[in-house]
Amino acid sequence: MRTRTLALLALTSSALALVACNNEEAAKLTEARLSEVGVHVKIDPTLAPPMMELLANDFITLTRTQDQIARADSRAREIFSTHEGGTVLKYLNTRLRYFMPAASDEFLLQRCTLPRELRYSDFLGGEEEPSGMLTAAAKSEMGAANIGAAVWLLAVVNDLQVSCRIGDTEFPVDGTRAGLMMFGPGYKAAEKIIGPLKIKLPPEYRQAILVHEARHSDCPSGLTEDDIAVARASRNGSEFDRNYAGRQCGHLHKLCPAGHSLEGIAACDDVVYGAYYMGAVFSAAAASYLGDTDDGRSGIISKASIMSASAADSFGRLLVDAENGKLELGSTSEVRPAHGSRER
Ligand SMILES: [Zn+2]
Repeated sequence: MRTRTLALLALTSSALALVACNNEEAAKLTEARLSEVGVHVKIDPTLAPPMMELLANDFITLTRTQDQIARADSRAREIFSTHEGGTVLKYLNTRLRYFMPAASDEFLLQRCTLPRELRYSDFLGGEEEPSGMLTAAAKSEMGAANIGAAVWLLAVVNDLQVSCRIGDTEFPVDGTRAGLMMFGPGYKAAEKIIGPLKIKLPPEYRQAILVHEARHSDCPSGLTEDDIAVARASRNGSEFDRNYAGRQCGHLHKLCPAGHSLEGIAACDDVVYGAYYMGAVFSAAAASYLGDTDDGRSGIISKASIMSASAADSFGRLLVDAENGKLELGSTSEVRPAHGSRER
């Protein structure tokens, strides 16, 4: 969210001017295809058409498999079947709404009414000490990032009203449910193993990413004035990470502790029913469903084992017993006067 160079601005502006009508058309067609299956999203025309295609197919595949996946085990049933009369698609649809490419700060400044200079932004992580929700993605190959919660938090902490424009739609970022999704090279159809050897990733692998990202759109109990004060007072991401108690709002990640394979990276969760938990439950349920269906292999490895590995990776990022609390799937943008007895 920090200001970069004017050169970057020039580069981005000319790139935007070169967006072909084809991309605009592809975005409209993808929106229409998704709308047919009840998924209502807006797609930025600068998103690459192959990414639009991949996303559309991933959502459409879910219409055929979501019932079996949601019924595959009790944890998946709890999240996807028993709340909000839901299905996996409904869970995604209420939380992910605007799709754009993983892009520079300038890109975001062009689309959202964020001022170039913010009084309080150090809590998202400075250049010297990278941390926080946005920079975690930058350290590894970014699959997808739901930045709606982070943009809203920036707005609240800086006492601003922010709106963004994707395609022909302008919308206020007035809570964590803005659903501003960025897609990067990690959201892909295949994974390189060694040299030219690749395995095809099943749609369930990417759907688990969507399920994870969707959880960042939930803020079950709002924020407190204390949370905002901590964000304002934090001089860098590590300080914010240590002192911030409002993590459940947007289910922001925690820095992984010493000894963890991702030590020092904001890629762990210390909130119950956090984003990694949601993705892990979906992956495990998908592994179980794929194991039963025997619908082919991704080259040398079965789709079910890809999903088991994905579940194990996500479960390994939980710093708390994720089920040791109440599952809350609601969201509010309320800011309460002071800290109550917050569940952590
Ligand atoms: Zn996340």
